[in-house]
Amino acid sequence: MNASSKLSRRNWLKSVAAAATGIAALPFLGGTAQAAPAQVTKAIAHYQDHPSDGKMCSMCKHFIPAGGKPGHGMMGGAMGPGMMREGLCQVVQGPISPRGYCLLYLPL
Ligand code: SF4
Repeated sequence: MNASSKLSRRNWLKSVAAAATGIAALPFLGGTAQAAPAQVTKAIAHYQDHPSDGKMCSMCKHFIPAGGKPGHGMMGGAMGPGMMREGLCQVVQGPISPRGYCLLYLPL
């Protein structure tokens, strides 16, 4: 990967993160409810169901363990009986494996 493609990938990741944050912060017009956070597809995030260089969803700030809160994955909270069950992600759609990984990974 050359410097140009690294910069391009970095800019793309910043754009996706900014869009997700910006859309999540917008309230519905005339209402008090907040818009649902924007999520991208697994394909766009290059999600995989296995770790990458020791990095995995359960160690990511965006991971929401089954019945838990964001940022309380394996490294951020006590190990519980549901810790290795599929969870959710704040920025990627669908069920997420705690052992998965994607390009939007954000370490705890
Ligand atoms: S952002 Fe990616 S690495 Fe982090 S929890 Fe979501 S799918 Fe997993």
